[in-house]
Amino acid sequence: MAPICEHCRVQIIDQGVEVEGHWYCGAHCARADGRTGIGDRV
Ligand SMILES: [Zn+2]
Repeated sequence: MAPICEHCRVQIIDQGVEVEGHWYCGAHCARADGRTGIGDRV
């Protein structure tokens, strides 16, 4: 089961970022949701 980005609700198929137990499709969504201290995985 793929996680869902908690900001834009897109399904995270391959890459994603996990911050404090929350999943986002990318660092931009994590930042948009107020999460800090993460970087995009390349
Ligand atoms: Zn997103």
